[in-house]
Amino acid sequence: MNYDVVISGAGIAGLECAKHFVGTKLKVLVIEKNKKIVRNVCAGGILEEDYEFIPKEICEFEELKDVSFKHFNRQIKIPKLLNTVDRKVLTEYQVSLVKNKKNIDIVFGDYITEFKENEVILKSGKKVKYKYLVGAEGAISPTRKYLLLPIKSAMVTIQYIVKKKFDSFSFIADHNKFAQGYLWVFPHKNYTSIGCGCKLGMKSGAELKVHLEKFLDENNIKYSNPEGRIINADYRGYKFGNIFLVGDAAGITSGGSGRGILSAFLSGKHVAYEILGKRGNFIWHWIARKWFEEKIILRFTSNTSWNKAFFISKFFERILRIKFLWRLI
Ligand SMILES: Cc1cc2nc3c(=O)[nH]c(=O)nc-3n(C[C@H](O)[C@H](O)[C@H](O)COP(=O)(O)OP(=O)(O)OC[C@H]3O[C@@H](n4cnc5c(N)ncnc54)[C@H](O)[C@@H]3O)c2cc1C
Repeated sequence: MNYDVVISGAGIAGLECAKHFVGTKLKVLVIEKNKKIVRNVCAGGILEEDYEFIPKEICEFEELKDVSFKHFNRQIKIPKLLNTVDRKVLTEYQVSLVKNKKNIDIVFGDYITEFKENEVILKSGKKVKYKYLVGAEGAISPTRKYLLLPIKSAMVTIQYIVKKKFDSFSFIADHNKFAQGYLWVFPHKNYTSIGCGCKLGMKSGAELKVHLEKFLDENNIKYSNPEGRIINADYRGYKFGNIFLVGDAAGITSGGSGRGILSAFLSGKHVAYEILGKRGNFIWHWIARKWFEEKIILRFTSNTSWNKAFFISKFFERILRIKFLWRLI
């Protein structure tokens, strides 16, 4: 089989990349390991700017909801900041944009077992020749591994999906429990994602789980089936000859906030434009933001006294309020 573009992974970044090839002359194959669409592990939190890629109609709430940030007994509230999207619903929406298109094939329940120059061999035994290969398999990416790119900077996360419903979003920062990371409560229509995460190496997954479960117990929230994942934040470029990396595979996610939905969309679009020879620069603003979040914000939140000052001065609130400034960077 011969394809112009092979995309490994039908998550946010892979499907966004595929979308831009619809109706072009390029023959595209998308390969997804799962046999069917599932809810990829994620809290699904999005900001208003994510509406560029995610229609409001598929979001959990009609309006952005209030968010409270808490550090020990200090609390600040920011009105109408966040929304959520169910990740299964999002994937279904993205698949609907590329399914049954003449030049796009999507295969579920298959994956690459061998990489060769300009050719991959799939679990099903099929040999596929490609002009361009796009690694979009998330944090644990075989394509990234093939390129011998290590992961030295990442976030370790754990979450529970619970039945209890909440009206607003919460972030809780507590250096002793979550290092420079935080605990989140992200409401959805029919469930809530409650989880926590921090920079890899600062707290183990087991330690985070203990603190998360203590929070759930204290709040009388029933839980089962923990979902633990790594978020790859080790960005080392996205283009390696005719092989590209997008989303978590590229490590483009912010290691400060763990935000990866928008960056997955942006990088998927960026790589598609580059392959198509179209003008468009969608990731460089994000890289600047990622650097700012990881280097500047983490410096504040990783030190207890800075952390206190951080909340007292409501610096966080101001940073979030001047969202438009990001666009000027
Ligand atoms: C617990 C948690 C909470 C999060 N919360 C948020 C949040 O609230 N907001 C936010 O912006 N970001 C959040 N993120 C980050 C966000 O989920 C990721 O950055 C984003 O999903 C990355 O998209 P992606 O397309 O790169 O990878 P994914 O969405 O992980 O998609 C990868 C796809 O590739 C498939 N795949 C995997 N291996 C193979 C293989 N070998 N062959 C073929 N297919 C394969 C997978 O099944 C999957 O469908 C969170 C992450 C975690 C772990």
